[in-house]
Amino acid sequence: MLTLANLSKTYRVGEVETQALDGISAEVQAGEFVAIMGPSGCGKSTLLNILGCLDQPSGGSYRLMGEEVSTLGEAQLARVRRAHIGFVFQSFNLINDLTVAENVEIALLYRRDRASRRARIADVLQQVGLGHRAGHRPQQLSGGQQQRVAIARALVSDPKVIFADEPTGNLDTANGEAVMSLLKGVWESGTTIVMVTHSPRHAAEAQRTIGMLDGRIVGETPA
Ligand code: ADP
Repeated sequence: MLTLANLSKTYRVGEVETQALDGISAEVQAGEFVAIMGPSGCGKSTLLNILGCLDQPSGGSYRLMGEEVSTLGEAQLARVRRAHIGFVFQSFNLINDLTVAENVEIALLYRRDRASRRARIADVLQQVGLGHRAGHRPQQLSGGQQQRVAIARALVSDPKVIFADEPTGNLDTANGEAVMSLLKGVWESGTTIVMVTHSPRHAAEAQRTIGMLDGRIVGETPA
């Protein structure tokens, strides 16, 4: 489903160049649950942003469901995101002026039929256990509930793959567990998941873990 070959990313800030990704080659099959671990600054978020078509690599190849996406421009990347991808951020990234239902609806606005949008939003809020919070604003919810809204937003368009960047990083243990079991349920129902985490315990929920260091893949468990 995802094929990376010699992927690189260089950031340039003024005179300073940072090689955030340095020759990443990897494959993720449809239906897999993969964790990515590594120390801060090793390139995990950079990699996940490229995988999620939020950013472009500087070099190398990235094929998503057979399509070479490494060379696509902004509009085409947006098309790929809408068609295939859900993204969950560490800091939830909800819009505080919108209700829970409206935050989820954002991922569906390209669909014209309002009634079917509403039905789909109600379904997905039920699925994350927040059907009774549709009219609340994000700040009226706990962090764990906010992350569940973000997962609902990621799920609402029925993505083939979800990329989650430290989805439990801002949560206490109990809320982190709840978010993990929700993601696990999403995976068990057939969605591919790639998740960055600092938690060995949460990584152990995945089928395998890719280890990164200094912009490279340095190992995999199980090997
Ligand atoms: P991680 O997610 O593993 O903590 P990142 O992917 O965020 O690592 O960062 C990898 C490297 O790239 C770091 O050295 C970081 O400082 C640098 N970096 C990340 N984003 C940017 C950016 N937008 N501009 C410049 N440098 C960046």
